[in-house]
Amino acid sequence: MIYLDHNATTPPAPEVLAAMLPVLSGVWANSSSQHGPGQDAKRALGAARATVARVLGCKPVEVIFTSGATEANHLAVRGLLAAAASGRSRVVFSSVEHAGHLRLARALADAGVQVDWMPVLANGTLDLAAAQTLIGPDLALVSLMAANNETGVLMPVAQVAALAHAAGALLHVDATQLVGKLPFHFADSGADAVSLSAHKFQGPKGTGALLLRQGLPFVPQTLGSQERGRRGGTENLAGIVGMATALELLGDVNLEAKRQAQLRDALENGLTRALPETHIWSRQVPRLPGTSYLRFGQLSVDVVLQRLERLGVAASSGAACSSGGSAPSHVLTAMGVPADEALAAVRFSLGATSTLAEVNHLLQALPPLLAPLLHEERLTAP
Ligand code: PMP
Repeated sequence: MIYLDHNATTPPAPEVLAAMLPVLSGVWANSSSQHGPGQDAKRALGAARATVARVLGCKPVEVIFTSGATEANHLAVRGLLAAAASGRSRVVFSSVEHAGHLRLARALADAGVQVDWMPVLANGTLDLAAAQTLIGPDLALVSLMAANNETGVLMPVAQVAALAHAAGALLHVDATQLVGKLPFHFADSGADAVSLSAHKFQGPKGTGALLLRQGLPFVPQTLGSQERGRRGGTENLAGIVGMATALELLGDVNLEAKRQAQLRDALENGLTRALPETHIWSRQVPRLPGTSYLRFGQLSVDVVLQRLERLGVAASSGAACSSGGSAPSHVLTAMGVPADEALAAVRFSLGATSTLAEVNHLLQALPPLLAPLLHEERLTAP
């Protein structure tokens, strides 16, 4: 199988599995227990926390382990909003946040919180001028992703942090797609809270973290003594050790980013050369190195994914599946892309395991399957 869906999840690195297995079998005691085995677990937890903090540029006390980014996102927004000063009750989200985060925004709005939306431009980047008009003295929090999971577009985190802070508000950043793909340093990022998820960088699923600037007023959402009272519940120690190992393995992120960008460019150049009807979104703006979001004319994504499946290639659609059919991607809709084009969206996302041989195989095998379909589409076009 050629796996080109790394933005959905990544295969765990062998080193991650090797680090986790002995924890599952041997360090299974509760880190809150006072006995020897419990203290072993506590030490392993502390060591993993120190590693996470070192790699991500924060203090160990600023790391709150969670079950992943969805929980970290919810914890950040709800926890910071609940602790906001009186008179600061509004929250601003970008319109292209991850689907789970959009649901949180709608749930808050349904519960009476004033929620505003920052639009994006046609190229997928944040409309900073429009964002600026939404940031004012009644604002508690801005929540913005660092990189979009569909287009890969990078968002102006530092600029939005400056705007939010000048207005006395906080910034939460969902860095789930950025961490592991491009360099990230919490203390330098400008963000007050940052979400991440281990399974996006060859760590295990079901493990993530919220990095929370020390000293910020915060109301925990799951009560318990763990994580300094900020997130109750016995820690997923094996997952946490796996995440720390995956972060340590990243090494020179820039070098790997360069490699993936070269593969991605080879893929995009090859596809546009062989199939001129290929349209690539957000190609001209800064984006994640391994993400390519495109359509082949207006060929339905289902048809394209079927052909890819036949070739043993795993990719994904940009559409959010809803019961009884597919809805156009909210990200493309926010960019002003018409529904018929958005329903043709295919996402290829490369990762650490991707190779030039895989890209070349795809370039050799896919165009002959799609060319006749595109020819037919041309003939039947109105
Ligand atoms: N935010 C973004 C930008 C994501 O891409 C994802 C995963 N697709 C999530 C949040 C959710 O992460 P998790 O699976 O860890 O809950």
